[in-house]
Amino acid sequence: MTYHSNQVDGLDYASNDHLALASDLHSIRRSGWTIITLKQLVEAVIRQRMDSLPRRSLAITFDDGSYFDWYDLEHPVFGMQRSFASILREFVHSDPVYSGVSGLVTSFVIVSPRARECLDQTCLIGQGWWGDEWWPIAQAEGLFSIQNHSWDHKHPGVAERLRYGSDYGSFQQLRDSQECDWQIAQAQAYLVSLNGAGTARYFAYPYGDCPDILAYDYLPGRQQQTGLMAAFSTEPEPVTAASNRWLLPRYVCRRDWSSESELMSLLNSLKR
Ligand SMILES: [Zn+2]
Repeated sequence: MTYHSNQVDGLDYASNDHLALASDLHSIRRSGWTIITLKQLVEAVIRQRMDSLPRRSLAITFDDGSYFDWYDLEHPVFGMQRSFASILREFVHSDPVYSGVSGLVTSFVIVSPRARECLDQTCLIGQGWWGDEWWPIAQAEGLFSIQNHSWDHKHPGVAERLRYGSDYGSFQQLRDSQECDWQIAQAQAYLVSLNGAGTARYFAYPYGDCPDILAYDYLPGRQQQTGLMAAFSTEPEPVTAASNRWLLPRYVCRRDWSSESELMSLLNSLKR
């Protein structure tokens, strides 16, 4: 399951991913689902041991990685927003099953500091809300695992002078292995320099765009160099024993469900 902490467009479930996440955590518990880490999920896929996971289990991921993931912030229109981290801490506090779990949720972050500086101006309100000083703190606390969502997302809000290649606004076109290195390997190196060796293991495709050059060539071929073990799309499907580890699907909040009852219908449709 995927949430975006920047998605604050109102003060109800359907327009605010923070309110949706808080509600969903309790729905998940009440309906008997278990939250597993991305590490547990990926290892089960790689070892072909999906039966080793709890029945009815799911993993939680966040995309883009601004301060709304980590800090409670005063939104200019909608007031104080509790961060995803605050919501999770309260949830874990109320359910000791999850206390001490390392990497309970995974945050896929846009890695380039200069790209984030631009996006702070173009997508947020220019208050310096897209820093990375919280990544090693979050990783050390254990609640979050910080992972790779590419160097700059090929986001159209990134200044022209900082870009590599063309077609910003989509991640479908990576021309060659140099561009893959620029988006993937460069981001891996930065994450490792901040969070420590062996911490950057998973990649999430920006916009859910999964170019063949990454899924079938670069990622499987360069595991040793990049340190990556799996990659996540936003194809709305459950992960199964037949899933390709470089194209693991995810459901996205608002696109695939936008109320408590829709979440319940979705989860009920997946029961095994
Ligand atoms: Zn994204």
